[in-house]
Amino acid sequence: MELTNIINVSGTMTGLGASVTSEAVIEASAVMMRRFVVMHQLQSSASETICAATGAEAGFIAASASAGISMSIAGVITGLNAAAAEQLPGFAGENSLVAVQAGHLCNYGAPIAQAIELTGAKVQSVGSATLCTDYQLQQALGPDTVAALYVISHHVSHYGQIPLPRFCQICREAGVPVIVDAASEYELRQFLRDGADIVLYSGHKFLGGPTSGIVAGKRQLVRAAYLQNLGLCRGMKVGKESVAGAIAALQAWTERDHQGIRESEEATLSYWQQQLSALAGVRTVTEDDPTGNPLRRLTVQINADTVGLTAAGFAEALGSANPPIIVRDHEVEHGWFQLDPCNLLAGQAQQVAAQICQTHQQAAQFTPSVQVEHNARNASADGYLNWMAE
Ligand SMILES: *Cc1c(COP(=O)(O)O)cnc(C)c1O
Repeated sequence: MELTNIINVSGTMTGLGASVTSEAVIEASAVMMRRFVVMHQLQSSASETICAATGAEAGFIAASASAGISMSIAGVITGLNAAAAEQLPGFAGENSLVAVQAGHLCNYGAPIAQAIELTGAKVQSVGSATLCTDYQLQQALGPDTVAALYVISHHVSHYGQIPLPRFCQICREAGVPVIVDAASEYELRQFLRDGADIVLYSGHKFLGGPTSGIVAGKRQLVRAAYLQNLGLCRGMKVGKESVAGAIAALQAWTERDHQGIRESEEATLSYWQQQLSALAGVRTVTEDDPTGNPLRRLTVQINADTVGLTAAGFAEALGSANPPIIVRDHEVEHGWFQLDPCNLLAGQAQQVAAQICQTHQQAAQFTPSVQVEHNARNASADGYLNWMAE
């Protein structure tokens, strides 16, 4: 079966294979696949690299950031008790609560609440979707609260939430460890400095590693999280090739020419903006990343009356072009989509601009699916139902 080559201007998306890895990462994974290794030793080596990159006391590589969430929550429930780890989720009983601001109860491809509750813990939602106050958090943290989870992401409410340093301070006063889901963040040190006890990153997002998760934080909590490999998290096993690749990706990240990459992304944004400037009913504006990652995206606003397609329809038309161009459509119902330059391969910036111009010209001929016009997000479950070739 021939696999479709797509152009990814949506960001690092699990459904598109996340990221493209560097040769150094491929080589590190390949070397490891040709040999045996004592996994604990490899993870101990990962811990050293993670500590150097993040300032943490300890760390290990998990299968994904999502696995990291489950493993670190499981770890705070069991501590270093291996028998307890083998008894999860039952061991958690009725009284293991994980406090999360209601505005952070997001879905990153799966509900974050499920990654927590898989361990037997229960989510304790704090505040309401758009407002969480200090006193609500203080009130929520009680003897049954085993941890508090904080999410840094475009997926969460962007106002009315408690800032991380304050969140950590309140939790510390109550003796509750804070786990930060920073899966998609560039910043590797600040959240620990802000007081987090564990921080989780995806290895396959900005870091450009193989599919993996990075767990970094306080030594005993990291050890307890790692212990879950002999229980609940066996099904989230990470292989030697991923651990080695993730180590290489972390090392590459600390040596990467961040400034040079930023400049080339900015050049792409200007180029797109200029190429699209003549299209009737299309307005573009560059936008900062909502969580402060050092990258910008191009927001493309579609005036449906002038263009003859809604933004959702336009995005769908681009996704059915040859090659398919997958745009960032998280908020497409607002009449715009975004172009993210950070995963472009050579020559693709031009293809993206040319295809947008062509789609604009032929907009009247394209009939969007009813599904997409209603709510583009519905399509994701369809994909999981209808993936297999007939
Ligand atoms: C992507 C993402 C995850 C999941 O990360 P994986 O490593 O793919 O499991 C979790 N939380 C947030 C905020 C994310 O953006």
